Amino acid sequence: MQRPEEIRILVGAAEVLTCTGPARETEQEDPAGRLAGGAVAIEGDEVVAVGDAKTLRQRYPDAAEERLDGGVLAPGWVDSHTHAVFGRWRADEFALRCTGVPYMEIARRGGGILSSVRDLRALSEDDLVERSLPRLAEMLQAGTTTAEVKSGYGLDTESELKTLRAIRRLNGMQPIDLVPTFLGAHEFPPEYRDDRDGYVDVLVKEMIPAVAEEGLAEFCDVFMEPGVYDRAQSERVLRAGMDHGLVPKLHADELEGSGAAELAAEIGAASADHLGAISETGVRALAGSETVATLLPGTLLVLGRKGYAPARALLDAGATVALATDFNPGSSPISSPALITGVACSQMGMSPAEALRAATVGGARALRREGKVGVLAPGARADLVHWGVEGASEIPYRFGAPLVRAVWRAGERVL
Ligand SMILES: [Zn+2]
Repeated sequence: MQRPEEIRILVGAAEVLTCTGPARETEQEDPAGRLAGGAVAIEGDEVVAVGDAKTLRQRYPDAAEERLDGGVLAPGWVDSHTHAVFGRWRADEFALRCTGVPYMEIARRGGGILSSVRDLRALSEDDLVERSLPRLAEMLQAGTTTAEVKSGYGLDTESELKTLRAIRRLNGMQPIDLVPTFLGAHEFPPEYRDDRDGYVDVLVKEMIPAVAEEGLAEFCDVFMEPGVYDRAQSERVLRAGMDHGLVPKLHADELEGSGAAELAAEIGAASADHLGAISETGVRALAGSETVATLLPGTLLVLGRKGYAPARALLDAGATVALATDFNPGSSPISSPALITGVACSQMGMSPAEALRAATVGGARALRREGKVGVLAPGARADLVHWGVEGASEIPYRFGAPLVRAVWRAGERVL
């Protein structure tokens, strides 16, 4: 039943970015699905039509109009890989790294991921919520309307549950739609340094059942990398998660290849993330699967390294590529997906249209929300960003400049 009085049309943008094109740019096809002078019709919390203003006015003659003064209208970012809930920032370590102090030395002085673990364990759930709110506000200002957030700085049952409960509370307290991931296998906690399989037992027998019982996560993630979780341990954790209804995803082949992309494809993971050291077999495995290749170039940029993931090879092989911030206090204090799209273009050979699509549709697919978010098309949630730019390519080109003029989440203006 149509109730035209509830329909609104956003008109006046110079360009609408539908993000409904193919993953890879060709001469005929535009991954960003740009519509010059387009308009978007919204009913309640949903997009009902996208097209030129004249057609939409004819179709919905009684609709209210909201006039935009030029600019680009795009779907909100779907930031499909973040660690946005944590205790304190680690700018002190950044300063050390920038002057050449090696990571092992920083870790010896009490830094690194285990410093975030000590820190988070000492905080209450209320403290965590309090500290996270301004960070989520920063993400919203960057144009993010859906964000995955991982646990993984607790590394014991109580602290992991505390983190996921904080994420659940934060979901209702601010506009960004948060998608929770259990990452108890982010590292090994200090108390299990000499009994790694003992910690895997805790993950499988205690933490995953507890997380599933409270319905605290949708995904289960593992940091598979030489020296951290090996293939057997990773597979054991992911399969235990699957037995409890958690969809697998993987931190894969970040700095050294270890066949993690292949495991992700084999197990049917939603995504394999990082991939700076993916092998050719890994590229083929992802291209032949439903597993999204999620690229996180912000970490390499911040760490001052060069081993960017082979975005071009992945796209050309036919893989779905997503781009995300990896927002975290250690290796990527970057909250802006727009900045990440700029890095993807300048360092990884992606076109602006491919990068824009990867940070919207790509992210939606990595979070199993394809068609619901990350696109402007009938049936999608009305999550939109109005950008103060003349054309979409300016978004990556301006490298994270504050160009967001307005944000709507589920049809409601939230910024
Ligand atoms: Zn990560």
